[in-house]
This record gives sequence, C-alpha cells and structure tokens, in this order.
Amino acid sequence: MIELQKVTKSFQIKGGGEKIVLNSLDFTIGDNEFMCLLGPSGCGKSTMLRLISGLDKATSGSIKIDGTKVTEPNRESSFVFQNYALFPWMTVIENVEFGMKINKMFSAKERHERAIEHLEYVNLMGFENSYIHQLSGGMKQRVAIARALVTEPKILFMDEPFGALDTFTRISLQDLLLDIKTTRNVTIVFVTHDIDEAIYLADKIAIMNSNTGLINSVINVDKQQTRNRTGSVFNAYRD
Ligand code: ATP
Ligand code: MG
Repeated sequence: MIELQKVTKSFQIKGGGEKIVLNSLDFTIGDNEFMCLLGPSGCGKSTMLRLISGLDKATSGSIKIDGTKVTEPNRESSFVFQNYALFPWMTVIENVEFGMKINKMFSAKERHERAIEHLEYVNLMGFENSYIHQLSGGMKQRVAIARALVTEPKILFMDEPFGALDTFTRISLQDLLLDIKTTRNVTIVFVTHDIDEAIYLADKIAIMNSNTGLINSVINVDKQQTRNRTGSVFNAYRD
C-alpha cells in the first residue's frame, strides 16, 4: 500500500518566494490497484509520481510504501515515461537487461532468458538485436514496458506513457497494460490528460486541482460498464 500523509512540495521561484505544488496531501493507493492521476497541465501529477517513486523529495510530510518510508528510488518500483527514456546505443535486449544488470539481479544466463521471455510477452520477438531508432513509437514503449517489468516491481509508475502514440497503438498498449495488472499483481500509478483513457484503464481516478495542490476527488470506476469496448471499429481493429 502507498500512503501519503500531509505531503507538501514547494519549489523556490527565481527571484524569491516559493510555489506550493502539493499542499498537505493525504492519499492512499491500495495493492494491485490501477490508479490514474488526472488533471490539467501543471497541477503536479509528475511531481507526485517523482515523490512517490523516490526520484524527488517532499518538502514535508511522509510517503510510505508497505509501511517503509520512501527515501530514494528502489528496486521495488519501475518507471515508464512518455519519451521512452531508452538507451539509443544499446540494442533492444540490452535495454531490457540493463535494470537487472545494474541491480546485480540474476546470472547473465538468467538475465538473458528473462529478457527474451519479456520481449515475447510484449510481442517484440525478432527485434532483440535492433537499435531503438529502428523501432516505431509503440514498439519503443513496448521495450520500455518490458524493461520495467523484468525486475518484477511491485509498483509501476507511468507518466503519460501513451501521450505520443496514435489511437490504434494506444489501444493495443492499453490492453497490454490491463493484462499486466491482472496477471502480474502489480500496482499501477498512471498519469494521463485523457479522460477516456483514465476511465478505460483505472480502478480509481484521482482528480487533481491545479490551484489547491490537492486531490479534489477519487472516483471508483465501474469496470463492467467501461471495459466493454464494443462497436464495429474496435472489433474490426482487433480482428
Ligand atoms: P503536465 O501535465 O504538463 O505534465 P504536471 O501536472 O505533470 O503537468 P508538474 O510537472 O508536476 O505538472 O509541475 C507542477 C508545477 O510544479 C508546475 O508549475 C511546474 O512549473 C512546477 N515545477 C515542477 N518541477 C519543478 C522544478 N524542478 N523547479 C521548479 N518548479 C517546478
Ligand atoms: Mg507531467
């Protein structure tokens, strides 16, 4: 469980003063929950992800994951960004092996096997030895997802991961993400501007307010109604 208690984050403004982005925020995210953070540009969505994942420090307040204070990035969580953040000088499989390697996880043989297994899962077999510039945007994001999952994180942080992708690519990656959530027992904290995407993916949607630095409301999404993407266009695409 992720618990935020009275979390405040402010930034110094050039020329003096400070801007409060998150203001005494109390918030909880349950295990294996798919939580979408939704809100206008500048409201603090990325800031909140950076704090929970330990990439940045809160000005005050406490952030705990399973009762332990978050003080720095840790192996228990992985990040997926809009701009992929892949290494262009490495091949696809080297990118996927990277996180395991720096964390000294598994033997070299196991790392290779696990990377292959995850590339199969994201449907990228045949591209192991390609370089990143040889891939489409959707394929790049599949590599980033494989790299994020291969270390078996408890939490997956995703900051507008599909923001740069076309609708068709988004649909297949959204479905991949729902499969990840149901089969891998992972908690997903997902930032988006796209209300439809939030409704399709999330168990809960937290709506952030740009003026107060608070979560205005948390909405439970009724999956029976929203995950039922029927209609001839979707079906034709899937066939
Ligand atoms: P977007 O949807 O455009 O990505 P966001 O909700 O993710 O927006 P943040 O990136 O979290 O917004 O930024 C929230 C506010 O904090 C903005 O006003 C931004 O200018 C400010 N901010 C973020 N990082 C810093 C920083 N390192 N220094 C100063 N101000 C910052
Ligand atoms: Mg952002």
